[in-house]
Amino acid sequence: MLYKSTRDPSGARYTSAEVVKRGIADDGGLYLPESIPTLAKDEIDKLRHVPYHERAAHILTKFLTDYSFEELLDDCRAAYRHESFPSGPAPLARLDDRLFSLELWHGPTAAFKDMALQLMPRLLTRALKKTGERRAAHILVATSGDTGKAALEGFRDIDQTRITVFYPENGVSLVQKLQMATQTGGNVDVCAVRGNFDDCQNGVKQLFSDSELALELDRRGAFLSSANSINWGRLVPQVVYYVSLYCELQNCGALRAGDRFCVCVPTGNFGNILAAYIAGLMGVPIKKLICASNLNNVLTDFLRTGRYERNRTFHKTMSPSMDILISSNLERLLYYIAGADKTREYTAKLAKTGSYLIAGEEKDKISESFIGYFADETETTAAIQDIFKKYGYLCDTHTAVAFSCAEKYRRETGDRSIIAVVSTASPYKFA
Ligand SMILES: *Cc1c(COP(=O)(O)O)cnc(C)c1O
Repeated sequence: MLYKSTRDPSGARYTSAEVVKRGIADDGGLYLPESIPTLAKDEIDKLRHVPYHERAAHILTKFLTDYSFEELLDDCRAAYRHESFPSGPAPLARLDDRLFSLELWHGPTAAFKDMALQLMPRLLTRALKKTGERRAAHILVATSGDTGKAALEGFRDIDQTRITVFYPENGVSLVQKLQMATQTGGNVDVCAVRGNFDDCQNGVKQLFSDSELALELDRRGAFLSSANSINWGRLVPQVVYYVSLYCELQNCGALRAGDRFCVCVPTGNFGNILAAYIAGLMGVPIKKLICASNLNNVLTDFLRTGRYERNRTFHKTMSPSMDILISSNLERLLYYIAGADKTREYTAKLAKTGSYLIAGEEKDKISESFIGYFADETETTAAIQDIFKKYGYLCDTHTAVAFSCAEKYRRETGDRSIIAVVSTASPYKFA
């Protein structure tokens, strides 16, 4: 399986090891596989009865064809071991017959970023070997709080790597700040930035496209790479838990094979929900992807009107990991919907004017799969209380945004399908 850049219509292709190593394409685009492999029904039946790390290796081997199945199995076993995920990597909580919570925060840093970042450094180390790379990979990370800690924890003291994390000084929770500031390890650096997450992300993207910096680093035996969800190596492990979710919904008797269900994802950079979209393309019968935003509802507006408009007030909310106005991974969806030429046009417009408009068939295609809602601060607080009163279930602020949006979806559409809310952080992380 080879990969291409979302902004390159020329047909240049890259191997999976190359893509994991480089993180972002030279033209500023994001890597995507040439085609999406599918999962047959009997494959899913088999996956239902194996542990999570085997499910993971089985999915990954379809995308990362430079890696042997045994290598992937070893890495997944190590990444998702019991010491790191004492309650299992992706347990499913049943609130009632039609409402579930997929808990992705049982890893070392108490947020769902661990699902990818416990594995990705292992994939990168192998990629360096496979591509004959002798330079050190210097990982740059822009974080709204959770990626930073999870990446530091994943990369600490990993051979041939260094990591620098940039976080918005006043844009993360106290727990998140302390987690990052107290990081141990010989190859780690953390910088607080005066600005918000988008400033951090834009700064990092600028460094990636600075050719003089690249030359200087090369002279010193290093190159830059990314651990944000712009890196395919970070995104593909996230596809796994949507396949696993489908297995678990069948295992607990809530669904029969082929029955469709909805997922509701608290969204910031659009990585997590894009992974769900890809799981859908592989054959997981997802009926609707409910994109849940907080007051920074740029995606809600985009999915409803077709206009992406980042020129708007930036809100600091109680769900800081979703305080984002430029959702990088939307570029991958644009590519699927509109192709490389149009994607380049839209992303150039976004960089220049802060907005772009899609319409007609492109908009219809997106609406077939996605629907957007947002919850304000009052609704988020109310959702925490409602879910606790109704089910005795405690959720964090990000997950609460999703519960609130799932409820709005039910009310607005009358759809009675099963909804799995994706729970992205431990309630104790955002007290
Ligand atoms: C990162 C994060 C999100 C947003 O995920 P994206 O992949 O950026 O859309 C939501 N909730 C929490 C707790 C996060 O850490």
